[in-house]
Amino acid sequence: EDRLLNPARLADDADAALRPKTLAEFVGQKAARDNLRVFLDAAKARGEALDHVLFFGPPGLGKTTLAQIIARELGVGFRATSGPVIAKSGDLAALLTNLEEGDVLFIDEIHRLAPAVEEILYPAMEDRALDIMIGEGPSARSVRIDLPRFTLVGATTRQGLLTTPLRDRFGIPVRLQFYDVGELQQVVSRAARLLGLPLTADGAHEIARRSRGTPRIAGRLLRRVRDFAHAAGDIEVDAKAADAALTRMEVDGLGLDAMDRRYLLMIADIYRGGPVGVETLAAGLGEPRDTVEEVIEPFLIQLGLIARTARGRCLNGRAWTHLGLPPPANSQD
Ligand code: ADP
Repeated sequence: EDRLLNPARLADDADAALRPKTLAEFVGQKAARDNLRVFLDAAKARGEALDHVLFFGPPGLGKTTLAQIIARELGVGFRATSGPVIAKSGDLAALLTNLEEGDVLFIDEIHRLAPAVEEILYPAMEDRALDIMIGEGPSARSVRIDLPRFTLVGATTRQGLLTTPLRDRFGIPVRLQFYDVGELQQVVSRAARLLGLPLTADGAHEIARRSRGTPRIAGRLLRRVRDFAHAAGDIEVDAKAADAALTRMEVDGLGLDAMDRRYLLMIADIYRGGPVGVETLAAGLGEPRDTVEEVIEPFLIQLGLIARTARGRCLNGRAWTHLGLPPPANSQD
């Protein structure tokens, strides 16, 4: 799937080059930043490892970036992996025993850890210990290995996806929000400087406005806009040039892409505005249910275009207006 607005990480992202390196450089997420500042300073002052941190929020909002910033601010090593990659409990045990004192271990998509792997994590997080079974049958016994002090930083799209015992072991839960246009404009201007692209303030604003509240998408749109600017003879990018490029990429004025519009049109055309169940929508779009719930819907909800109800998804009045369609006579709002 090569959806332009897919906030999931793609190979061409060159994310690393644009990542802010310090908390001060990190734009937006003020509440999260302020809290982290306090906890980081306290941990440093006490010479202790930072308590375990759980980031949750839609993809592309800066969870990985903040995890790296935490390690850098603490002056410790950074190890990264992800839930689906750790197949066996032995894999996690190997990772944990290779940590150095104070290290940050980042586990992306932590809600996708296998249950047997997750169980290894509990004593590791709580007691800095690893319980390993040696032998089999009646002579089997459990051996406890001490681990270095470390900080686990977990990332997930929704807090509710974690099992309760895992969620309870994070002392610092941090919710990330979609960025507002002003914040994204700063992200875009900064990235343009780093990429050496001449971009006016209103050009940055235009890209920001159409980035689905998501820095990763802003970075990706900026790179495509840069390609258009290059094709046009390295012109300075203003709002008009940005608009032309984004329109050619089928990103509309609200930042919705073709998939978002297919989603909305499906509810409008086939289900007369809903309610319709998410499974039905996912099947109709040919997308996994997770993608619909965690990637497509959060931003449409944020914009007030759709509502999640107990009986299914419904279009709000604003969605009909945006699609240029008349709402059905029995519409709710
Ligand atoms: P996540 O882990 O939540 O999916 P990332 O941390 O990988 O998101 O961020 C995605 C991209 O967006 C990276 O290229 C990163 O540099 C950029 N980014 C995220 N948050 C910010 C921010 N606050 N300021 C500037 N760039 C950001």
